[in-house]
Amino acid sequence: MKDAPLTLKSHPNHRTTVSIAPQVTVGGDRLLIVGGPCTVEDAPQMAQVARQLAAAPVQAIRGGVHKPRTSPYAFQGLGSAGLEILADLRQQFQVPVISEVMAISQIAPMAAQVDVLQVGSRNMQNFDLLKALGETAKPVLLKRGLAATIEELVMAAEYIISHGNPNVILCERGIRSFDGYTRNVLDLGAVVALKQITHLPVIVDPSHAAGKRELVPDLARAAIAAGADGLIIECHPTPDQSVSDARQALSLEAMVDLVHSLRPIAIAVGRSMADPEVAPQPVAA
Ligand code: PEP
Ligand code: MN
Repeated sequence: MKDAPLTLKSHPNHRTTVSIAPQVTVGGDRLLIVGGPCTVEDAPQMAQVARQLAAAPVQAIRGGVHKPRTSPYAFQGLGSAGLEILADLRQQFQVPVISEVMAISQIAPMAAQVDVLQVGSRNMQNFDLLKALGETAKPVLLKRGLAATIEELVMAAEYIISHGNPNVILCERGIRSFDGYTRNVLDLGAVVALKQITHLPVIVDPSHAAGKRELVPDLARAAIAAGADGLIIECHPTPDQSVSDARQALSLEAMVDLVHSLRPIAIAVGRSMADPEVAPQPVAA
């Protein structure tokens, strides 16, 4: 069988490190750990997340404001009101934030308020969106499509890079299979392959792969052992009350425990993690 033409044309001979904020990078020695709810629900929720996770520590907070829901009748996200919550959080806690962009029209307002623009699985091959993101300088977290091949993911990244933006972070988040026990199948083989055939950082989202919170910590640890450059994990102050993806959300306490458990694995595979911190208080306005 002929090997697929997978090598990225751009900068093939070095590893790319993407800087998402001052002193926060992904793709170097240090792992990037991202946590937060599926959906931004209100300001107190997000402040609690930032306060509790900072001590883990996590280096960035996630939260969707434009949500790609399977049903058009399900909550679609807070939109611009949610973006304001993220902007305030970023300012108050001095923490980078990550949120999903679903349309070209959302790029400019989001780029002004968040540090990383996430392209969700359902948009991995929205080529016009990818091209438009290529014309920005913002880091892009590109999630693998629901049933996308490794080659398709690499080519989606190439769309962004070839349009001028080298700041692409790949994300394996599970692919569809025949078995409904887990929501998706976490493809750690893809993580290993992507690290070999591209120069881009590769992070893993075990939450959308597992679909069940009790499976998330072991998958997260396996991902780091397999060479992932970081993790993005859904967690919530009251997981069962999450407006979306409740079943896979970790409690904040479980998230902190999980981050602590990663350290020996990181060391064993030659990676480092940020030092544990005292939880910061919000910066006075
Ligand atoms: C999400 O991150 O909440 C999300 C919708 O992820 P995915 O695009 O991987 O399904
Ligand atoms: Mn989700």
